[in-house]
Amino acid sequence: MTAAVDINVSKVERSKLNDLSLENLPFGKYFTDHMLEADYENGEWKNVEIKPYQPLVFEPSLMSLHYGQAIFEGIKAYKDANNNAYIFRPHDNFIRFNISAERMCMPPVPEEIFMDGMKQLIDLDRNWIPNKKDHSLYIRPFMFSTDCQLGVKPSDTYKFMIILSPTGPYFAEPMKIFVEEKYTRAAPGGVGFAKNAGNYAGSMIAAKEAKKLGYDQVLWTDAFEHKWLQEVGMMNVVFVINGVAITPSLEEGTILKGVTRDSVITILKDMGIKVEERRINIDELMDAYKNNSLQEVFGTGTAATIAFIKELRYKDFVMKFDVTKCTIANSVRQTLNDIRSCTITDKFGWMNKV
Ligand SMILES: *Cc1c(COP(=O)(O)O)cnc(C)c1O
Repeated sequence: MTAAVDINVSKVERSKLNDLSLENLPFGKYFTDHMLEADYENGEWKNVEIKPYQPLVFEPSLMSLHYGQAIFEGIKAYKDANNNAYIFRPHDNFIRFNISAERMCMPPVPEEIFMDGMKQLIDLDRNWIPNKKDHSLYIRPFMFSTDCQLGVKPSDTYKFMIILSPTGPYFAEPMKIFVEEKYTRAAPGGVGFAKNAGNYAGSMIAAKEAKKLGYDQVLWTDAFEHKWLQEVGMMNVVFVINGVAITPSLEEGTILKGVTRDSVITILKDMGIKVEERRINIDELMDAYKNNSLQEVFGTGTAATIAFIKELRYKDFVMKFDVTKCTIANSVRQTLNDIRSCTITDKFGWMNKV
């Protein structure tokens, strides 16, 4: 057990909820009344505070703006029919956060600040958790370097924060995907397994160019041959071939270890579906498509949960999928949604009560 952390709390005088309805909010545009902030200085975390959501003020020489030591997480909280609040698998995100921190030469955030701080913040802003179908409270923990000087080195000081954003419903339209052969998201020895801000910046141009060709996102391939499949946009990817679910394995360090990916694997196995975590390349995928054994392709991630894919294009070869027949993706999605809305038993112990 970790010691409870001393958090200084200052509350808003008037909640912004008085002027806002929690229905049909777009993703990531509205923020709750409060935020959590902690500072790393002289080798220790201090000044852990929950306070009104407000702007930050820094010098232009703030190191994270220049050298990119910045990492984040994405988690969701839900309410059941009795108004109890739950966070979905937050401890997995806590572990991943500190793996990202280590890769980017940043200090680990203690469990009592990340976990207890998150729970205390959500408890205070619990009225902000929407209780409508397909709505949730999106939780964004993040850390960035705060030394103010130029000169490349790991910063000596950092800020850890958590902000909360009510959101939903999230309509994930079936996507058209372009298999990327020019740009690379991740290579062995790189930072693909870390949830650092720069990974997102580096990937945007591929999506932008795919859009010009009429596609929604790209399917990332390996850096050397551009054949081995990695992820779809900023989501993990699952292929169903002959009833077997296949998802790229993690050992090369080029795949982000998604909490949704892990949840989907667990649910599929529980449904009696065989799951393979292994390398898979575009030739195997095209062969399976040609002999009618490639049944489903879908993405997994916290924002969309399951994103259906209706078309994949590799060079001039177009593969089309009837998403109404994607029964495996559909039932995993249903099970995940039912667990998160507390309408079925949480048999895997994923819902963490606040
Ligand atoms: C965040 C992220 C995912 C999805 O992870 P979840 O924990 O399921 O939300 C997948 N790929 C990348 C590159 C990501 O940044």
